[in-house]
Amino acid sequence: MNKVYNSRLILIASSLVILNAAFGIAAQKVETTPPTREQALASPAGAFAYFQAADENAKIVIRAQLEKNPGSRDGLLLGQTPYVAIVGCSDSRVPYEEVIGAKSNDVFTVSLAGNVVSEDAIGSIEYAVKYLHVPLIVVLGHDHCGAVSACMNEAEVGGALPQLLGKIRPAVQSATKACIGCNKEALFSACIAANAKLGMDELLSRSATIRSLVKEGKVAIACGVIDLSDASIQWVVTPEFVKSKPVTPAAK
Ligand SMILES: [Zn+2]
Repeated sequence: MNKVYNSRLILIASSLVILNAAFGIAAQKVETTPPTREQALASPAGAFAYFQAADENAKIVIRAQLEKNPGSRDGLLLGQTPYVAIVGCSDSRVPYEEVIGAKSNDVFTVSLAGNVVSEDAIGSIEYAVKYLHVPLIVVLGHDHCGAVSACMNEAEVGGALPQLLGKIRPAVQSATKACIGCNKEALFSACIAANAKLGMDELLSRSATIRSLVKEGKVAIACGVIDLSDASIQWVVTPEFVKSKPVTPAAK
């Protein structure tokens, strides 16, 4: 009798283990189903879950890199050594590192809508050139810039936005003066280019640190506009030492 009873107990226990394992796997599946981009856009909670999942994915990639090449990231802990400081727009369609094929530790980025140059943006660039010894500053606008468009069209906005758009206005005014007879599309492009140039001029006129480093030839400064369709850059102003010659692809 005891033997039969024990066998039944073993059978029940085994069944429980199997069921538990099955449910465990099912529960795990539910937990690890990655949130979709649609869910991220639908709510703050969905966006946070998507962000966390993206971070997990990034960690998986980094761990794989470390397995292949242990110590490959040790240098990053010693400090950053970017070769270029970019002043760009916050627009999510312009991930500057991707656009120029940069790697970690290549780019020091300051992004504000309309690539405007605020006092804090100037301070950030001063930090880059003075303390990180970054030898190149590039102000980059981009086509279809919503901030420039809002300024051109005198969009009715509230909060802190009028102040931000006010920083773009001088570029819109100068481009409008210079682009007499332009159609709307050409004027938009001219305003974007003028706004990139304005950003560069602001850095030079408002920062003695940047101005003197450029004058001494320790830092070069340029500005241009990125074409969203193919990531090409239309230079508005290149550094003085640049002659018109084909660009050779950078060594990887
Ligand atoms: Zn923009």
